[in-house]
Amino acid sequence: MEYRVGVIGGGQLARMMIPAAVNLGIDLKVLAENAGSSAALAATEVGDYLDLETVMAFAQTVDVITFDHEHVPQAILHALVEAGHDVRPGPDALLYAQDKILMREKLEQLGVPVPVWAAVSNADELASFIADNGGHAVVKTPRGGYDGKGVRVVSHADEVADWFVALAEDGNGGALLAEERVDFSRELAQMVARRPSGDMQLWPVVESVQRDGVCAEVIAPAPRSAGRVADVAADIATAIAEGVGVTGVFAVELFETTDERLLVNELAMRPHNTGHWSIDGSTTSQFEQHLRAVLDLPLGATGCRDTWSVMVNVLGGPVEGTLADRYVAAFADQPTVKFHNYGKAPRPGRKVGHVTAGGDDLDQVVFEARAAAAFFQN
Ligand code: ADP
Repeated sequence: MEYRVGVIGGGQLARMMIPAAVNLGIDLKVLAENAGSSAALAATEVGDYLDLETVMAFAQTVDVITFDHEHVPQAILHALVEAGHDVRPGPDALLYAQDKILMREKLEQLGVPVPVWAAVSNADELASFIADNGGHAVVKTPRGGYDGKGVRVVSHADEVADWFVALAEDGNGGALLAEERVDFSRELAQMVARRPSGDMQLWPVVESVQRDGVCAEVIAPAPRSAGRVADVAADIATAIAEGVGVTGVFAVELFETTDERLLVNELAMRPHNTGHWSIDGSTTSQFEQHLRAVLDLPLGATGCRDTWSVMVNVLGGPVEGTLADRYVAAFADQPTVKFHNYGKAPRPGRKVGHVTAGGDDLDQVVFEARAAAAFFQN
């Protein structure tokens, strides 16, 4: 028996599937956007995921297609399915990770709690939404946003005038997503793995700290989550995974409000930044689990290896040189911390690596993870 997985997209998520594939003897192939991609360590073909022929030819060489990102157009996804390829997650599930308005509609249908929202197609509609929601709105482009790009907090419709112009030029009758500005005490994320047969495994709910719309730190499990918060997060994620028919690994980003409700902010149908801690901190990493799930293999256990795991992202910044230039100092200073380097040029603000620390004393673990990350970004 041989297992062959094809990943569309050559970013760090595809890269981190490689060690798991090597360990399991899975043949992993990547369709990458360019030759110097983060995942170029695997068998890599360079090609455009927007080109049907390229994607079809790539699919011929593997048993199952999965993804490093959610941007493969629906038409190409459906063509793959019609040609008999296993696409996991499939187009009908991915749709809800591709379009935030469709996602909000679907979640409401499933009875899952979401922030107050509306699809607004012009400045007047947005102005009346702002007036009804305390003088503010969080406005989002429904498609193509990531790391806070495509999200603006506004108090006047003028502040997204450029997005309305783009919509009008598009001519597709599209809309922007307007949301209440949620008064949250913290952000959480619930990760799940689901096989095509329906079996699921959930990791403990985690707390994520965002800076400037980008995930900065993750604490696993989320402090003070045992009991109600963990149960509600698990119920929400299970309802979505089943209601949408997701396969593979899947993340639900949540707001915990100051009045102690959990609201869904965002879905990701792939391994996710809030699950990176699992490489070093869980019995089964999200990357190994993703491969198992898309191949419809029994899922691994998802317990924690340490009482606390803390992951801190390393963003490219003013520090000169490569991450490896800092290894001697960082490794000597933090011998228990695990370092992950995505092999990417450290452009400012770009996610180029992460570190994970583990242990029994949360303050100490947070300190170690931050100290280790600080060697790379001062
Ligand atoms: P992206 O898809 O770019 O990650 P998100 O929708 O996750 O965008 O938003 C990025 C960040 O912006 C969130 O993690 C959160 O901190 C903040 N945010 C998003 N929506 C809201 C909202 N309705 N109320 C308050 N803050 C929000």
